[in-house]
Amino acid sequence: MSGPETDAILPHPQRRVLCRVAGIDALTHDIRRILLAIERGGPFVFSAGQFASLGFGALPPRDYSMANRPGERLLEFHIRRIGAGSVSAHVASRLRRGDRVSLAGPLGTAYLRDRHAGPILAIAGGSGLAPIKSIVETALARRPARPIRLYFGAREERDLYLVEHFSALASRHADFRFVPVLSKPRGATAYRTGLVQEEAAEALAALADAKAYLAGPPAMVQAASALLGAQGLAEADIHADPFYSEAEKAVRAAATS
Ligand SMILES: Cc1cc2nc3c(=O)[nH]c(=O)nc-3n(C[C@H](O)[C@H](O)[C@H](O)COP(=O)(O)OP(=O)(O)OC[C@H]3O[C@@H](n4cnc5c(N)ncnc54)[C@H](O)[C@@H]3O)c2cc1C
Repeated sequence: MSGPETDAILPHPQRRVLCRVAGIDALTHDIRRILLAIERGGPFVFSAGQFASLGFGALPPRDYSMANRPGERLLEFHIRRIGAGSVSAHVASRLRRGDRVSLAGPLGTAYLRDRHAGPILAIAGGSGLAPIKSIVETALARRPARPIRLYFGAREERDLYLVEHFSALASRHADFRFVPVLSKPRGATAYRTGLVQEEAAEALAALADAKAYLAGPPAMVQAASALLGAQGLAEADIHADPFYSEAEKAVRAAATS
């Protein structure tokens, strides 16, 4: 990527592309993975960690983060069903292979900074694993020996996903560690328990010149940013992607206008 890597500028031109659902499966009881094949308007060039605005028929558009690495043929998304959610419920129960999806973007400034070659501390909550997967896989492909710590927060074991995938990556990369953390385990568990941001923040001390990438529920992302800041990580080295709902986005937009 050329040009400045700043939060003020989107690194790629905006595009509107038409896709077809090439695959859909369940990652957990409430998270679907959808794979999109671009039919018209491509290529869709983005940086790892960015998101797009997805349109499913007449439903209002929603933001979802790309989970695949840039340049791969299929676009991958992880979409968690929200109880009363209109779009996430459509994806969970009605979306089928072959359906059309429109996509606009790429958006977002919490993308992988290519010029930084140092350690990465990545923190994901729930389907926040989507952009973090893209970031971690892209970073490992570019610099396989760099130190990367991925902390994945979920409530209980049934909310974890891609554990085998990331464990296999960790077995192939000596300095990549994958740590699932459960906040509300049911019964005994072999996984770490507690708040993912607290477990992750402890790892920061051993990672000089690190950058942190955070994604998932806004409360978790805010708590993680505050903890990392309190431990001395500069704001410019914290790249955060809170998954605000449309209602939260409207409140924030009104507050800044
Ligand atoms: C930058 C960005 C990236 C995102 N990436 C992803 C992603 O990769 N995967 C993903 O699953 N989601 C992601 N989201 C969230 C996504 O855009 C939608 O907000 C979410 O899917 C809910 O949409 P909906 O139409 O189903 O619910 P809506 O119809 O918008 O909401 C229905 C009701 O549910 C409430 N609600 C909405 N969201 C939540 C929530 N999280 N918790 C509790 N109540 C809620 C609303 O306030 C409303 O009352 C992202 C959001 C942003 C801003």
